[in-house]
Amino acid sequence: MPAEHIRILYVDDEVNNLAAFRATFRRDYDVFTAPHFDEAYQILEQEQPIHLVIADQRMPGMTGVEFLTDIRKKYPDPLRVLLTAHMDMEALIEAVNEGRIYRYIRKPWNEAELHNTIHNAYEIYTTRMELREKMQMLEKTNDELSRFIYSVSHDLRSPLMSVLGILNLAKMDQSVIDPNGYLQMIESSVLRLDDFIQKIIEYYKNSRLEIEYEPINFRQQIEDTIESFRHLHLNVEFKIDVDQPVPFIGDNFRINVVLNNLISNAIKYQKPDEQNPWVAIRVKVNPSQAVIEVSDNGIGIVQEHLQNIFKMFFRTKSLNKPGAGIGLYIAKEAVSRMGGTIDVRSVYGEGTTFVVCIPNHPEHAR
Ligand code: ADP
Repeated sequence: MPAEHIRILYVDDEVNNLAAFRATFRRDYDVFTAPHFDEAYQILEQEQPIHLVIADQRMPGMTGVEFLTDIRKKYPDPLRVLLTAHMDMEALIEAVNEGRIYRYIRKPWNEAELHNTIHNAYEIYTTRMELREKMQMLEKTNDELSRFIYSVSHDLRSPLMSVLGILNLAKMDQSVIDPNGYLQMIESSVLRLDDFIQKIIEYYKNSRLEIEYEPINFRQQIEDTIESFRHLHLNVEFKIDVDQPVPFIGDNFRINVVLNNLISNAIKYQKPDEQNPWVAIRVKVNPSQAVIEVSDNGIGIVQEHLQNIFKMFFRTKSLNKPGAGIGLYIAKEAVSRMGGTIDVRSVYGEGTTFVVCIPNHPEHAR
């Protein structure tokens, strides 16, 4: 915007000052003047955009700082400059430090200094506006992208489920002969793809959904999770120990995400030759938090990988197990949305323990 379009509001009860200001700056900028605050509020209401508001400190009824502080609520964009002949230094420092005014100028003003201030202020104004516009564009793109991913993921699931249904029919059909196990291979590929799609949906929901508080029955949740993985853990022993003497109020969806990912990994990363594979899930609830421990006697994780396993797409080549490397990332995100923590300890070749702490919110009990 060229300089003549810089729009300035100057408020001062000394009309001579207003006239001098208009005479000096009228040619360079669009100048609005007001001898009292009522008129200044009216101009702000009617003449947007105003890029810069200059106010005299000593005015009847309200000080310049008070006025500039007040307009910030409704008009946060214009930069605010205080004009003052004498000033309580303490009040001035506080006003500048709290961001209520951009700069202060001594009366009588120096024309060159004021020009300079106006130009600098205007530069800040335009930079802020550009930044805001870019932020809005970024938010919009981000929003569209994640909605696109969600809707694609969602839509992909129904044809996948149809494929699984047809596979089941084929397996039951005596006339379909499959000596090489192709149907089984197709089925496991479809299940892997479905698992990946479900993780993307979990990721989307975790980043989008508000926290919802409801009573959590940990034993029930854990049993349901184990049941849903029944096809994976033919010979794994589960040791469940839930100590929940008080109600736990938390986010059911996110707790499920965490349990799902930790328990499925504990099953998945068992040693192939282990005679007695087990997964232990311990929960201890108290009025302030729940501590969930998921341990296994599986392959373990080498120390150098421990700091990476929560990163997006990080995975080891362990046993060539299927996976997308996002389960622990999503679990960590979900825990952090709930205001909790997740830690891991592991001994390579012996097993792994994840410890999750989630705050209890009894104050949200209905
Ligand atoms: P994925 O299982 O899809 O590879 P995750 O994000 O769930 O992705 O896990 C990241 C990596 O952490 C895995 O590739 C695996 O190497 C390691 N890991 C996670 N849980 C365990 C566990 N219980 N035992 C051994 N390794 C594990």
